[in-house]
This record gives sequence, structure tokens and C-alpha cells, in this order.
Amino acid sequence: MEKREGKRRIVLVPIPAQGHVTPMMQLGKALYSKGFSITVVEGQFNRVRSSSQHFPGFQFVTIEESLAESELVRLGGIEFMINLNKTSEASFKDCIAQLLLQQGSDIACIIYDEFMYFCGAAAKKFNLPSVIFSTQSATNYVSRFVLSKINADKFSVDMEDPGMQEKMVENLYPPLRYKDLPTSGLGPLDHLFEVCREAANKRTACAVIINTVSCLESSSLSWLEQEIEIPMYHIGPLHMTASPPSRLLEEDRSCIEWLNKQKPRSVIYISLGSIFDMGTKEVSEMAWGLCDSNQPFLWVIRDASESLPEEVSTMVSERGGYIVKWAPQIEVLGHPAVGGFWSHCGWNSTLESIAEGVPMICRPFHGEQKLNAMYIESVWRIGFQVEGSKVDRGEVDRAVKRLIVDEESAGMEERALVLKKKLKASVKSGGTSYNALDELVKYLKTM
Ligand code: UDP
Repeated sequence: MEKREGKRRIVLVPIPAQGHVTPMMQLGKALYSKGFSITVVEGQFNRVRSSSQHFPGFQFVTIEESLAESELVRLGGIEFMINLNKTSEASFKDCIAQLLLQQGSDIACIIYDEFMYFCGAAAKKFNLPSVIFSTQSATNYVSRFVLSKINADKFSVDMEDPGMQEKMVENLYPPLRYKDLPTSGLGPLDHLFEVCREAANKRTACAVIINTVSCLESSSLSWLEQEIEIPMYHIGPLHMTASPPSRLLEEDRSCIEWLNKQKPRSVIYISLGSIFDMGTKEVSEMAWGLCDSNQPFLWVIRDASESLPEEVSTMVSERGGYIVKWAPQIEVLGHPAVGGFWSHCGWNSTLESIAEGVPMICRPFHGEQKLNAMYIESVWRIGFQVEGSKVDRGEVDRAVKRLIVDEESAGMEERALVLKKKLKASVKSGGTSYNALDELVKYLKTM
């Protein structure tokens, strides 16, 4: 670890999930480049430490919480999160005590993922400033407040009543229906409410950082500004503000060579994020539909040998498809051959696609992904959703043609390109995200 004498230290606490770790580490890089020292505290997952070569100068510390990675699969995301918060609090306090002994009192602040809310107790105990980092959309953050209010009002709203689902949430702009709130597919509702309540509770935090851009979510940001009552910094998209992006998994760059041989805006890129795995049946239907569309496609499948029957795999390569385990996604989306993105609508993927002006086919699976898909389709109008619990090959074929070939695609592309320009402007000198990052740095330096 490089010694950065006299520098204020920021302690970062990411949640051990790829889509959260990536923006947290991008934030770390941005702050490091502004002169702070960075310590990353993680559990035994050691997601980031294992790729520490990409973060020269950072310090990595492991805390002894008792949850193994296999528990994530056994318990599911929400249960895992609740347990992780319970088991980590004491060891995180010990860890901060050790850090303070090692480094005197040079910790400027603890910045923690909004779901690692156990950090609030350690910040309070050692009288250290803390800042919440929301790696998801501002609208999703708004939804958590709405859900925790429903919970506090003793479930005045029956979230499982189908009639209620279509109604609009009161006093909210932009308008959301109850069914848009990110509740589905995340396990028992009362546990989800518990996590929302904890994540929306700002405790002793003195500021909130959000990985978003005001031009995408100005209404939600205004709503939050009034609700939170502490400074809020919207500094995203962090993959643009904090270049170069941090690579945590090994990328297969052969797909760039393959893209170089394709016609401009002809390729559909398919990636469903770092967590979700489709069943074999759906993967096969998808493969057939993609082949039938006659458009070239680049598809991320983490374990193709397991999920693709051999004959389907052969058909894919014969009919214009290319499969990789992990792609350099940002570079792929920026490639001139890519004309559309079939996505699960994780927030990082959504921002990365907008940043490159690529329209999207939305296939969200749960929670916040559905909210992002709703925004893509109805607010920004740069894509559309494919609904239903299972898709068949005909729907896949139609969706790809609708996005890349049909007349309608021109409008989506045009709007996507307008947003791309706005995002570029927001991270340039004088832009909203650029200024917000500057203000955040000034604020952290006062701590
Ligand atoms: N990603 C990537 N290569 C791939 C697939 C995904 O680099 O082949 C990255 C992508 O650029 C994004 C992240 O993985 O930054 C996925 O985050 P997102 O929030 O979209 O979804 P999650 O994985 O959290 O569901």
C-alpha cells in the first residue's frame, strides 16, 4: 500500500454484490484521485480484495462476519442482507477501533452502501461522520421511503390486493403505481419492509451520495431533497465520472474483434447482469428467437456449457451469434456495431446503455429492475418491456426486430442519443454531476 502521508482517509463499505461493488469502487477511485486515502472494508467474500491489483494504493481490510457466500444462495438476497447486518455490527466496530489505533484519528468519514446499515452504529460509537451511498436509482430510493411509510402506517395499504396494485401512490411525482414499487420477487414482504425501513433510516449520516444524474431523475431528486434534509450529491453515472472503470471479473475481449466485423447498429447485445441465471428452457427459447430474428447477436452466458444444449450452441454459432462468459460491457455498448441491448435492467446496465445511446429491450426479473424498466419504457421512452413469466422464441424474434429493424426503432434511438448527449454534458466541467462531485470533495475535506 502506498503511503499517502497527511491525507484524510475514507473508509468504504460495499455490499458483496457485483452491481453494488462496482460503483462503490468507482467512487473510491474518484475520491482517491482527489487526494483521499481509501480503505475498503469487506466481509469474508473478499470480492474486491481479490482484484486489488486494479486499485493500487488502496488498503483492504477483512472483517470476521460469520456469513459465507453459500448463505446468499441458501437464504436469498433480502434474508441474507438482514443476517449480514446482524452478524457484522460487532466485528465492524472492532475493525474501526483497530484502524483508529493504526492510523491515529485520520479517518475523515465512513461511506457505506445503503444496505450495509450496520455501519451507522460504529460511526456513532466512534463519533465519526458517515455518508450513505445509494448505488441504485433515485426513484428506487424514493420507493424505499414510500414502502417504509406504508410499513409505519401499519400496512394501511394491502400490497397484495390486485385492485390496489393499479392505483397511484399519493403525493408522489413522478407518478408511480403501487405495482411499480420494487417489491416483487424479493421474498416475504415483511422482510423486505424491514430492509426498506433500515435503508431509508438515515441514522446519524450527514449526507447521501446517489449514483444518478439529475437530467434522468430530476423529480425524484427534488422529492428526496425535501424528504432527506441532509446534503445529497448526485454524482453519476460513476462509470463516466470516475474513469477508467474498475474490472473485477475477467473479460473476454474476443467479442470486440467479432463486433469489428459486424455492420453498424446491427447487433443485439444480451446480458442479464451478474446475479440472475435463466432456466435451460428459457435459454433455448431465447437462442431460437435470436437466430430467427436474423440479426447478429452477442450474448453473455456465464455457464454456456451447462445452460445451452449442444445442438442449440452449434446453431447459435452457425447463425450469427457469439457467446462470451463475461464481456467488457461498457466497451461493447459503445461499439458502433451495437444497435440494441436486451437487458435485465440493473441500474448499472441501464446507466451504461443510456451513456452510449443504446435503446433497450427490458426483461426485468424483480424489484428495482422493474422500476428501471418502467422508466426506460414510459419516462425516457428508449425501449420497451417484454412481459410474462416465460418468453417464447416468437416473442424474442419480434422484440429484436421491433428494436433494431422496425420504423419505431428510429424514435427510440433518437431519444437515446439525446440522453447520451445530456449525460456527457453532465460529467464535463460545469455539468451537474461534475459540480456535485466537486462539492462532495469539498464537503469531505471539511470533515
Ligand atoms: N457486466 C460486465 N460484463 C458482462 C455483464 C455485466 O461488465 O458481461 C457489468 C455491467 O457493465 C454492470 C454490472 O456488470 O456494470 C451489472 O450491474 P447491474 O446493476 O446492471 O446488474 P446486477 O448484476 O447488479 O444485477
